[in-house]
Amino acid sequence: MDLNTNVPHSARVYDYLLGGKDNFAADRAAAEEVVRIAPYMRTSSRANRDFMVRTAHYLAAERGVRQFLDVGTGLPTSPNLHEVVQAVDPACRVVYVDNDPIVLVHARALLTSTPQGMSRYIHADLSEPETLLDSPELHEALDLERPIALCLIAVLHFINDEDLARSVVRRLMEPLAPGSFLALSTITLDSAPKQVAAAVSEYNSRGINSKARPKADVVKFFDGFELLEPGVVPVHHWRPDDAARSIDDSQVSMYGGVALKN
Ligand code: SAH
Repeated sequence: MDLNTNVPHSARVYDYLLGGKDNFAADRAAAEEVVRIAPYMRTSSRANRDFMVRTAHYLAAERGVRQFLDVGTGLPTSPNLHEVVQAVDPACRVVYVDNDPIVLVHARALLTSTPQGMSRYIHADLSEPETLLDSPELHEALDLERPIALCLIAVLHFINDEDLARSVVRRLMEPLAPGSFLALSTITLDSAPKQVAAAVSEYNSRGINSKARPKADVVKFFDGFELLEPGVVPVHHWRPDDAARSIDDSQVSMYGGVALKN
């Protein structure tokens, strides 16, 4: 397997920003440059990870969701999504999906389920939803007749093409049962336009294609679904706990939201 450790990968740069150890020199150099341009990137990454934890917990504990499809999983970072939802109900089933070979290696070893539930890992690309939807592993793990939460946390900004990004969300939601949810977060320019634009172009110049979106474009991902309160907001404003409430708005460049499919 070619891990291409001499070029930065988004999963490993993000891992470094979160304080993880599963990264290489090229990833650290990219992350350091991004932090030099936009010093709050670590806080923003952490706020995003915490948003994932709060949304997953909310969907399991308050909405009764027992099946999760998490595309763009990233390297294992405690707590992982299945740990959050299996703490609510050990029978929760989680399918993780990523296209990075190093995530594959770590995920298979570390993302292990409770005996009552299930966690599966599928190596697939978000830009080809049918490959994922047709995969036997997905159907072994999840019952598409029952509600599923599709989680696209900090991954849509790696799909630059707006039509493709929107169609990917639509195609993944389409076969899911009524009562399913869409939870997503993605990078925005709105918080600090110059810094985020420079950070995004730094990513692009190092081969990580990425794009920041204005709020209106993030809201469009939820077209056709019932957006839950408080709507599309900076991730630390989404049903915040005390830690999220203490974060300054200038430190977060991610929007997030959750919607219900009726
Ligand atoms: N969802 C996690 C990790 C976000 S990092 C969190 O928010 O904490 C983004 C992840 O998306 C990385 O692991 C990267 O490998 C993955 N990714 C990027 N483009 C992808 C694509 N086209 N298909 C699948 N995964 C992708």
